[in-house]
Amino acid sequence: MARSALSCNRSPDDIRLVAVSKKVSAERIRAAIEAGIADLGENYIQEARNKIGSLTSLKASWHFIGHLQSNKAKYAVKLFDLIHSVDSLKLVRELHKEAKKINKIQQILIQVNVGQDAAKSGIPPAETGPLLEEIRCLENIAVKGLMTMPPFFEDPEKSRPYFTALKDLRNRFREKPSINAAANITMAELSMGMTADFEIAIECGATIVRVGTAIFGARD
Ligand SMILES: *Cc1c(COP(=O)(O)O)cnc(C)c1O
Repeated sequence: MARSALSCNRSPDDIRLVAVSKKVSAERIRAAIEAGIADLGENYIQEARNKIGSLTSLKASWHFIGHLQSNKAKYAVKLFDLIHSVDSLKLVRELHKEAKKINKIQQILIQVNVGQDAAKSGIPPAETGPLLEEIRCLENIAVKGLMTMPPFFEDPEKSRPYFTALKDLRNRFREKPSINAAANITMAELSMGMTADFEIAIECGATIVRVGTAIFGARD
């Protein structure tokens, strides 16, 4: 990560590593936190509830990166510092309602399907603006930026146009007065890049990379 950052004149401190711990036991997560990992990413609510519950004595930030159904919003708000995978107005409204109940400002990213890939979740780029406009009045939601997951390619270089497209989209909102003026929207974060392509994502402006296999080994 540091090498990639320095290769494009970025500070390594500007890129956060989320260690993706889906299917990794609580004991191994504990070891990772003790070794210096500060951020963990989980995909499944039930699995995360069990593991986070047994690791409460350790200081770590928890990120939800999987597909989130509206009926699980309540648990997501209780468990996670940052939810990366918000992809509908229905879900944001549910998160807002649950966050308000416990007096929390829930930080989120909007997941964008930049490739318009039918197999991937995320909203189409053209719907991102209208969604952000709706979020402006949801005071218990704070949008921190965008997230994407390109289709799978053998050659990680093929992810590059998707990462660039996400950055361009983010930059457009940064310049949009109505979004800029919203107190609960800042567009600083770009969550993109996994084990196979995090170096390229960093070259394209990632501020958060989500890496599982390279840290914990292959999952079954
Ligand atoms: C599993 C997962 C990752 C990590 O993938 P690796 O290839 O193991 O690094 C990153 N992001 C999301 C959304 C995932 O589901």
